[in-house]
Amino acid sequence: MFKFVTNGGLMSQRILVTGGAGFLGSHLCERLLKAGHDVVCLDNFFTGRKNNILHLMDNKHFELVRHDVVDPFKAEVDFIYNLACPASPIHYQYNAIKTIKTSVMGAINVLGLAKRVNARILQASTSEVYGDPEMHPQKESYWGNVNPIGLRACYDEGKRCAETLFFDYHRMNHVDIRVVRIFNTYGPRMRADDGRVVSNFIVQALRGEPITIYGDGLQTRSFCYVDDLLAAMVGVMEQTETTGPVNIGNPGEFTMIELANKIIKLTGSSSQIIHHPKPADDPKQRRPDISLARKIMNWEPKISLDEGLPRTIDYFRNTLECTAKK
Ligand code: NAD
Ligand code: UDP
Repeated sequence: MFKFVTNGGLMSQRILVTGGAGFLGSHLCERLLKAGHDVVCLDNFFTGRKNNILHLMDNKHFELVRHDVVDPFKAEVDFIYNLACPASPIHYQYNAIKTIKTSVMGAINVLGLAKRVNARILQASTSEVYGDPEMHPQKESYWGNVNPIGLRACYDEGKRCAETLFFDYHRMNHVDIRVVRIFNTYGPRMRADDGRVVSNFIVQALRGEPITIYGDGLQTRSFCYVDDLLAAMVGVMEQTETTGPVNIGNPGEFTMIELANKIIKLTGSSSQIIHHPKPADDPKQRRPDISLARKIMNWEPKISLDEGLPRTIDYFRNTLECTAKK
């Protein structure tokens, strides 16, 4: 059973993080260990890397399990964060059927586990459930505008179905769920070949290669620094006011041209901007309405894009230099 202290916070717990060797998952494992918890990190290393968690391997409170969430598994834990799923369009479209299986069968397996061991469970859902949104900014009450047969559907519909499963397990089996809808998040430990816009632009700028803007570059995104995101994710898990879904992201909104120019300036790069065709179903605009997150946990992102980008650029500068020296 859960052990609560009187202030509503949590004492040392056994926590399962699926997708724990990925970008967000590795930062989450680190944060939970620092808070004094026992962490089981489960990953199939599709996009995750051992390097992301190497520094945790000597910690006696950390365990690594190589496993695919598509197959059932057992673990005696009190809390589960379900992050297992590739997040970058190039990676989730690489094997679309596997992506849907990961979201849907993965959700069934983690929810079955949560039910059996009576664990509280959080789903890392996504702003992609809003598709190419016609409501702006996006509130949790918006049902979205998703093309169910397009190239992004394996991810968008997989995540939507996972949300459905979370709420059905909650209604039918009283599983204690939390659902967060994560908007574009960036920071150290993104892969250089990840394909998402922040890592692509930084790597291209540092290598002096052309910056590839897809389409006219007027599409917008809101970028949240990883530390802000994780504070909110853990906050949603720990609060008891709502199951969610809760939007978490930074409401600052930028066009891809603005992002490219910021990165060129911050890196001092001589890279030129070039345009490539815009991918199908690429959302035109995206910005979270974070009123609910503010209300339930008084959360507000603290790190602006101008502060987060230099930290991320430093990370890539170091990792690209290391790779070049090898
Ligand atoms: P990531 O690709 O770095 O991490 C995903 C992790 O899941 C990787 O370690 C990967 O190996 C693992 N994984 C994939 N399929 C698996 C499977 N079948 N079994 C076990 N492990 C598997 O991506 P991320 O940015 O860290 O995203 C983590 C989660 O957050 C994902 O669920 C993603 O959908 C969600 N999310 C992220 C963002 C973002 O901007 N970073 C935005 C919205 C939602
Ligand atoms: N994008 C771009 N150049 C790139 C990578 C992405 O212009 O090299 C654009 C992409 O078309 C999208 C936005 O940046 O409009 C964000 O893309 P990302 O893949 O990071 O996230 P998502 O589309 O899933 O929000």
